[in-house]
Parts: sequence; C-alpha cells; structure tokens
Amino acid sequence: MEQRAITPASTDQSLIDSFGRRVDYVRISVTDRCDFRCTYCMSEHMTFLPKRDLLSLEEIDRLATAFVERGVKRIRLTGGEPLVRRNVMWLFERLARHLDGPLDEVTLTTNGSQLAKYAAQRADLGVRRINVSVDTLNPDKFQDITRWGRLDAVLGGIDAAAEAGLKVKINTVALQGFNDQEFNHLLSWCGDRGFDLTLIETMPLGEVDEDRTDQYLPLSHVRRDLEESWTLTPSSHKTGGPARYVDVKETGTRLGFITPLTHNFCESCNRVRVTCTGTLFMCLGQEDKVDLREPLRQSQTDELLHAAFDKAMLAKPQGHDFVIERRGAAPAVSRHMSMTGG
Ligand code: SAM
Ligand code: SF4
Repeated sequence: MEQRAITPASTDQSLIDSFGRRVDYVRISVTDRCDFRCTYCMSEHMTFLPKRDLLSLEEIDRLATAFVERGVKRIRLTGGEPLVRRNVMWLFERLARHLDGPLDEVTLTTNGSQLAKYAAQRADLGVRRINVSVDTLNPDKFQDITRWGRLDAVLGGIDAAAEAGLKVKINTVALQGFNDQEFNHLLSWCGDRGFDLTLIETMPLGEVDEDRTDQYLPLSHVRRDLEESWTLTPSSHKTGGPARYVDVKETGTRLGFITPLTHNFCESCNRVRVTCTGTLFMCLGQEDKVDLREPLRQSQTDELLHAAFDKAMLAKPQGHDFVIERRGAAPAVSRHMSMTGG
C-alpha cells in the first residue's frame, strides 16, 4: 500500500469551526459490535449493521490520514468494542506511521476483554495510553452490568497492558443504586496500581432496556462524598478529552470527571466523532452530521473528503442539549454510544 508522507497542516488547512474552535482530536468507532451488552449502553438484543455498511479498515486508514493532513493530533479508536473487529491490529500498524510525523498519539478505549491477547503488540505499535471501562470490581455485579462480561478476563487484560508499559486509565460510569458505594474502593484500587480513574455521568444515548432517570447520578454529589476520605485538588492536567481532573494527594494519581449533564464542557470542544459507517458527528449530543463514506467511495482522491470536512466545520454546533430530567427515559439522541464511539 502507498505510504504518503504527511507534513504538518498549515493554519489555513486546520479544521476550525465557526466558533473558532480548532478540531484536533478525532474519535473513530471501528465497529458497532461488542462482546458485552452493558445495560446503559445497549439493549440485550441488539441488531448490528450489515458488514457492507461499515467502513473497511483501508477506508478508516485513508480517512484518518486525511484528518492528520488537516492538523489532527490525536486519534482514539473506539466502538462498540474495537478489539473484536477482525484484523484491527492492521489499522494500528498503519496509523503508527503517522506517529513519526504530525500525529501525537493513537489511543484506544476498550472493555478489556481481549486485551490480554493484544497488549504487548499494541505497545510495540506506538500506543502509549489506553482507557479500559470497569464499572465495578465485584465479579457478580460486573456480570450483571455487562450481561456477558467476565471481570477476571478484564483484570487479566489490564495487568497485561500495564506490564507491556501502557498507561492505563480506568473509566467508570457512575450509576445510582449500582456502584455508588464503590468509588472509594475503585479509587484506592486504581491508586495502588498507578492508574488514573475517570468517572462518567450517564448520557441519554440510544434506546436501552432501562429507565435512565433511575440510573443518573450527578458527579458533583460523588465528588463531595469522596472529599470526606481523599484530598482532591484541581489539576491542570489535560488529555485532549472532556474530563476535568483533580489530583488525589493520597495516591499520587488523578481522578477525572466527565459531566456532560451537570457541566457543559462544550466551550472548549476540540473533537469530532466518526461512526463505524463513516458518518461524522460534530457533537455527541446533537444530530448534526456529514457523510464521509460516500466521498471516500466515490473517488480515490481526497478532494471530496476534504470538502466534507469543511462542510462539517461550518456545521459544528455550539453545544449539546442533554437534559435528562426533561426527557425522562427517552434518549436525547437515538443512536447508541456504540455507534458513535464513547
Ligand atoms: N467498548 C468499549 C468500552 O466499553 O470501553 C469502547 C466503547 S464504549 C461505548 C466507550 C465508553 O462509553 C465506555 O466507557 C462506556 O462505559 C461509555 N458509555 C457507553 N454508553 C454510555 C452512556 N449512555 N452514558 C455514558 N457513558 C456511556
Ligand atoms: Fe460494549 Fe463498551 Fe457498550 Fe459495554 S460500553 S456494551 S463494552 S460498547
């Protein structure tokens, strides 16, 4: 396959939206499929997309390369579960070539189920940081929330990743009545291993089988409770994502909060998301979108693709509109997180 040398984007090529925000972070969902069925993310009986609708790995590589040409510095692969996509390591290999150029990092968000198999290889391919989602350290509860997952496999994968030298961050969705008594334990477990922990508020995305108003837990309350046991001081740490961090004095690690519902993080939004079918969403919480699959498939050169990027920048909305109380159990946005990528 052709190896294109990428030079850093000049200012006029950069992706800048109509509010002057520079987009330099792209999350790409490589599959809508998953080997888990987390209750807040998917219904148990999901219908997945036919394979022909998905971007091929070659198309994702081409797309990612075009983004890098436009000044994108960080690419996160997500899903669904990215590691269940066949041959996904090929994509990591391809993306690694840009790490010698203008791309700063390739990262991964995973449920950890396949991590033991791939961790060492991934570190060799220039991946330095991974996010692993763990909502509870109780094996029975883990099975309840993921429906199909096994905690021991995930913990084995996390150990393998840490041994391979990957920096691990744990993501935990905060769920009322499920893990609300566990955050102290999760924080000390992470602290013992040198992992940062990020807590995420549930977002009303996609139809699931549960009532989200029952599950919603404001992180402002969680933080207040944690402050009774831990010394938390605001940190200037930034990962390019939406989390706001505090330093945890007792562990020397960080605790992040992703609070789309209680705190609007849109003003500094630097990212866009591409679904596994090649639809570019400019905001996780809005329907504004631009199709990239057609431009990719219509032409072997990238003019149409770049024109689609420009159109997207003009259309990127100022912010999202998640208001869980008003909407009740109905999703604000009908697509699942596994389509758009978390
Ligand atoms: N399968 C991988 C995983 O679980 O990490 C990657 C995809 S998953 C959609 C990415 C992140 O989104 C996970 O941390 C997951 O817990 C989170 N997530 C999924 N649905 C969510 C929702 N409705 N609200 C908040 N976070 C959600
Ligand atoms: Fe799968 Fe991740 Fe969604 Fe859980 S959160 S069902 S692991 S995509």
